[in-house]
Amino acid sequence: MMEALQSWDAKGRWDTIHLAGVRDLADPTIFDKIITGEIPAAIVKEDDKILAFKDINPVAPAHVLVIPKDRDGLTRLRKATSEHIEILGRLMLAAGEIAKDESLGFGDGARIVVNDGKEAGQEVFHLHVHVLGGREFNWPPG
Ligand code: AMP
Repeated sequence: MMEALQSWDAKGRWDTIHLAGVRDLADPTIFDKIITGEIPAAIVKEDDKILAFKDINPVAPAHVLVIPKDRDGLTRLRKATSEHIEILGRLMLAAGEIAKDESLGFGDGARIVVNDGKEAGQEVFHLHVHVLGGREFNWPPG
């Protein structure tokens, strides 16, 4: 049974089926343990759909990650379908709100980043938005 389901995954056949995105057979990540409270995190924002917490290994004076509480197949951005429009909007809205929170060390500018896949530096396969601030950033990014 699992083999058949995984074969459908490999062929991308779920993508054409309404609400198929509720299936998520990918391996859990460390972020699941943060969501359940199994491992601690410095939570800066939370509602019923999203969780935002400080990155454990910050690359800027202010570095927050925003994640969907229910991964719902979003191991990475390119897994998104039209079914994810609401959660994607919520993630971006939260990122923008966090980016102007001076109490977290953000100033008048922030770098909002999604690493999509290993080639882009993604290490945790649970979609997350990096909100970086408190210093100047270069363009193009490294
Ligand atoms: P990415 O490379 O885009 O997948 O980013 C994953 C981020 O998760 C990295 O910046 C890590 O420092 C961060 N991270 C990993 N484990 C934890 C944790 N337990 N608490 C907070 N941030 C974490």
